[in-house]
Amino acid sequence: MKIYVLTLFPEMFQGPFQYSIIGRAIENEIVDIEFHDIRDYSEDKHRKVDDYPFGGGGGMILKPEPIFSAIESIKNKIRKQDGEDVVADTKVVLLSPQGDVFDQRKAMTLSGYSSLIFLCGHYDGIDERVMDQLVDLEISIGDYVLSGGELPAMVVIDSIVRLLPGVLGNRKSIEDDSHYIEGFIQFPQYTRPSSFRDLDVPNVLLSGNHKEIEEWRIEQAIKRTITKRPDLIDDLKSDSGIDSLTDTEQT
Ligand code: SAM
Repeated sequence: MKIYVLTLFPEMFQGPFQYSIIGRAIENEIVDIEFHDIRDYSEDKHRKVDDYPFGGGGGMILKPEPIFSAIESIKNKIRKQDGEDVVADTKVVLLSPQGDVFDQRKAMTLSGYSSLIFLCGHYDGIDERVMDQLVDLEISIGDYVLSGGELPAMVVIDSIVRLLPGVLGNRKSIEDDSHYIEGFIQFPQYTRPSSFRDLDVPNVLLSGNHKEIEEWRIEQAIKRTITKRPDLIDDLKSDSGIDSLTDTEQT
């Protein structure tokens, strides 16, 4: 997979993408991440990329010209290197507190594209014409406002890259993760020692009986989802229409 990041602060990505799973995925050429400084696409002699909002207001807005120019130039590069099909399979993702809230299902969908262009906003946001003309999807990492799209881009990219084939040694760890089965979090996990300060690991996990372990894990995953994240179960019920059925039956 090829990922392009458009940002005012490419240096911010250096630490987080150098280490651990993402660092290895880059080293093993499973993913290639290219950073583009939005200022490099400014035609202003002072490399200015923002201006005051029409109508007044507190903050500055990222101008459309450098962003149009950057995305068009990246798409032209993809067209030359990989062909029109890959351009058509490339999504432009804007990180924005106004977007759909990110979740594991979106991470899985995004991990299926051959290339992705992430646009990180800053200041008071981005000229609306960029959203209208260039952006395929807006993603929020939660209902709060950060200073820039860089941290959200790191979060989203990390969650996508770890899903790419070959990135994690054992695919089972992805399938056991919270949210892999929509609406459920992971069962409790333990490691050695089996007894620590009189705190014992559940016997079933030491039994070697794989069927019983699997059943126990499913039961625990359900129990702890109900306790820790009942909202996930409510979402599942309303998505499946169970809630509205119950409402209809009651009336
Ligand atoms: N005035 C904008 C609004 O109310 O929608 C917020 C601008 S915010 C200070 C600057 C940039 O940070 C945004 O353009 C976006 O790229 C990024 N950002 C802030 N919060 C975010 C969130 N929760 N998820 C994703 N991106 C976010």
